[in-house]
Amino acid sequence: MSQINSLSDITNNGLCIGCGICQSLVGTDKISISMSEKGRLEPKAIKPLSNLEFEKIKKTCPGVIVEGLPQTEVNNNSKHDLIWGYYNSLFYAWSTDKDIRFQSSTGGLLNGLSLYLLETNKVDFVLHTAGDPDNPMRSLPKFSYTKKDLLNCESRSRYGPASPLSKFNEALDTNKKFVFVGKPCDISAIRQLSKIDERVNKQCLYLLTLVCGGSTEFTKSQDFINSFKVKEEELDIFRYRGYGNPGLMYIKTKDGREHDKEYNSFWGDESNWRVHFRCKICPDAIGECSDLAALDTWPGGSPAGEDEGFNAVIARTKKGINLLNDAIKAGYIEKGDDLNIDDINDFQPHQLNKKKAVYARHLGLKKNNLPTPQTQRLRIKEIYDNNDKKFNSIEEEGITSRVEKI
Ligand SMILES: Cc1cc2nc3c(=O)[nH]c(=O)nc-3n(C[C@H](O)[C@H](O)[C@H](O)COP(=O)(O)OP(=O)(O)OC[C@H]3O[C@@H](n4cnc5c(N)ncnc54)[C@H](O)[C@@H]3O)c2cc1C
Ligand code: SF4
Ligand code: SF4
Repeated sequence: MSQINSLSDITNNGLCIGCGICQSLVGTDKISISMSEKGRLEPKAIKPLSNLEFEKIKKTCPGVIVEGLPQTEVNNNSKHDLIWGYYNSLFYAWSTDKDIRFQSSTGGLLNGLSLYLLETNKVDFVLHTAGDPDNPMRSLPKFSYTKKDLLNCESRSRYGPASPLSKFNEALDTNKKFVFVGKPCDISAIRQLSKIDERVNKQCLYLLTLVCGGSTEFTKSQDFINSFKVKEEELDIFRYRGYGNPGLMYIKTKDGREHDKEYNSFWGDESNWRVHFRCKICPDAIGECSDLAALDTWPGGSPAGEDEGFNAVIARTKKGINLLNDAIKAGYIEKGDDLNIDDINDFQPHQLNKKKAVYARHLGLKKNNLPTPQTQRLRIKEIYDNNDKKFNSIEEEGITSRVEKI
């Protein structure tokens, strides 16, 4: 079954990341999104979808189609790397606001840029992901209009399942201008939607992302609280990181019990990340079609301890580099030293490995007659051709052993 003919073909084949754009396109009366037994947010058609509606979903869903930076966004000065794609510049950067820097995931670059855009009226609101105040272990899409909205809602790395685009159509219906901050797969869906809905480029003025190692299934968070004999309904605070860099994985119950774990001990080695299947075959986890992508800067890929928070940034488009320069000039963002691709490879060894492995993994799925996302301008075949043949065959065979985990 290598064809996608229904929503369940996307979810049953592990291609869904739960982004929510399908629901936003057809409405909550036709598609519901709920947590599956595996701990993934998955859509279900609760009323039949018309052919037109399903075609629209297929044109945008990041489980079906993912493309690199649109050619129109590549400018004359863009540099190019086989793994990392187009970029205009690479440098360290972080928020100049001490609280944002401390409380955010790394150095608060994304929250700092969001604040700059709000306070200079370049956008009316920020569409981003927050903690659900009633269920702190779960995430919600949030429209933030003020600094207070933006910074008091657990807007920092939320590794568990999230559907940031389930309200994207609602955002467009406001007729207002906004910035979207989310994962690379979310950005991909928005870029695809911009081809069929002209409101997207008129209103969603900036696409900011994070370099993404994958979204963990909900069971990973459940196991964490279970290990302290805490029930989900007892939680008051649930935080994966932040309040330092990386900060602690931290929970607090309504009756005041506190528990935490260090970042390295929570994540351990990559085989324990328990990411969605879609993430294992992700052709763009590095935000190729965003305006800019923020990332961590730990040499070798893991933190050696706590620090004040130093993001690196990959400015992909002219809009991205202009935004950074303006925010630096206006005093919202501090620019650190320039970086090069070798530095980025050192900070993100798992991304380097995944980008090299993706095409072989897709081949493995195809050999099992399973569908994969269609890709364009992401160079995954070119990278595959450049790889060591043994590496490719291990990756191709490896995915076959994971097929039952879809
Ligand atoms: C799923 C996931 C995987 C990650 N993998 C990597 C990685 O491989 N390498 C790496 O360097 N860093 C990774 N990070 C961490 C982080 O995003 C980076 O450190 C990045 O530099 C942003 O730091 P910041 O301080 O600028 O972010 P902040 O200023 O704290 O802003 C974070 C932004 O991300 C948004 N956000 C958080 N969680 C989600 C979500 N689930 N879906 C959509 N939007 C969300 C928030 O709304 C906020 O706008 C990951 C984060 C997540 C959520
Ligand atoms: S990836 Fe997004 S658009 Fe595709 S099926 Fe899942 S929720 Fe819907
Ligand atoms: S790894 Fe890819 S599919 Fe998974 S959350 Fe990140 S960008 Fe989305």
